[in-house]
Amino acid sequence: MTFKPVIQEINSSDYNEDSGLYQFVVTLTNQAKCRLFFSKDPEWKITAVNRLLNIPCPVCRKDYYCNCMSKYAAEFEQQMLETNRLP
Ligand SMILES: [Zn+2]
Repeated sequence: MTFKPVIQEINSSDYNEDSGLYQFVVTLTNQAKCRLFFSKDPEWKITAVNRLLNIPCPVCRKDYYCNCMSKYAAEFEQQMLETNRLP
C-alpha cells in the first residue's frame, strides 16, 4: 500500500524571527503528527518535515526517528497552501 499523507488538523504554529522559519504541527488522517518548517521568501516554501513520535512511522514502522516523511515534503507543502492557513 502506498502511503499518502493527508493533513487533517493544523495544531499550532510558531515563528522564529532569527531563522525566518515558521513551524506548524499537523496531524494526519492516520493520527501521525509532523512538524513542518516553512520559509516565506516571498513565496511559501517547505524546508523540513520532522515526524513526531506519537505513533510508529506509517511508512517504515519505526517508533524512533527516520527520514521517511521528508520524501513527502512536496505533498505537505501543497496541502498547506491549499488550506489557506498560512499566515
Ligand atoms: Zn519511517
